[in-house]
Amino acid sequence: MFTLRDYKSPETLDEAYELLMKSKMNKILGGCHFLKAGCRAYNVGIDLSKLDLNYIKVEDSEIKIGATITYRDLEYNDYLQNFCDGIIPKALKRIVSTQLRNTAQVGASVFSKYAFSDFLPVLLLLDAKVNLYNNGVMSIEEFINSDIKKDILVEIIIPNKDIHCTQIVQRLCCKDFPIAIVSVSKIDGEYKVVFGARPQKTMIMRDVSDEINTNGFDREKTLELIDEYIGSNNKAKKKYRKLLFVGLLEKALGEF
Ligand SMILES: Cc1cc2nc3c(=O)[nH]c(=O)nc-3n(C[C@H](O)[C@H](O)[C@H](O)COP(=O)(O)OP(=O)(O)OC[C@H]3O[C@@H](n4cnc5c(N)ncnc54)[C@H](O)[C@@H]3O)c2cc1C
Repeated sequence: MFTLRDYKSPETLDEAYELLMKSKMNKILGGCHFLKAGCRAYNVGIDLSKLDLNYIKVEDSEIKIGATITYRDLEYNDYLQNFCDGIIPKALKRIVSTQLRNTAQVGASVFSKYAFSDFLPVLLLLDAKVNLYNNGVMSIEEFINSDIKKDILVEIIIPNKDIHCTQIVQRLCCKDFPIAIVSVSKIDGEYKVVFGARPQKTMIMRDVSDEINTNGFDREKTLELIDEYIGSNNKAKKKYRKLLFVGLLEKALGEF
């Protein structure tokens, strides 16, 4: 369990960011699930709950999701049930437990760029953007590949474009961390493939997508193309993971 010397609940983003930058041991508080998993002694805990970031705004061209929205809010949002084949609620409902999803926040989850994240592959598939207080608006792909360490994630912006997508996730057992995530979309006949839990950070598999779009899916060719992008960790070795990714990809493509 972590400890705090002080707790502040700023009323403006300017104030929150100023507090964050005052000391490297000042920390933004989300739902605190991951913070609780560590045992660090922080200086000031910064609560964002007075900043009115608890919104899901569906506009003509964009869907804006405020940082303090929880996974459960997204899971039960009416508009998202059918948007892009319901990929957002479907991806989130598999994460741990209702109790965790009730309080785990979107801003914390996305800013932390967890390689095992069920949500990041979906955001990559949907061409989402993040709005950061200091670094401004950038694509989720640029953000994942950036080395931004300290900032406040204010909102996530998703193009309001209904496309066909699917995500298949493999876990060693229910509620465990994923060991392979394959997300696929099809727009105007073109597939886009995203891999998560490789176990390195989530990425768009451009070579794989191009190959499928040009020559169709081929197991052997895909195994060759993904070789340098798949690795091992304590949950699954590279050899097994590669076969898993190819199998899941074939299954995902079969859904279109
Ligand atoms: C046991 C366990 C199992 C999990 N399994 C999965 C899983 O299978 N799949 C999956 O996708 N996720 C999983 N997660 C992650 C979970 O879904 C949340 O993403 C995670 O807990 C972070 O959310 P939080 O609100 O608890 O963040 P916190 O623990 O409160 O914060 C995490 C970090 O984000 C920072 N932060 C908070 N808000 C912001 C902000 N607005 N801007 C910038 N930085 C911010 C905090 O300072 C901290 O460094 C798991 C988590 C746990 C604890």
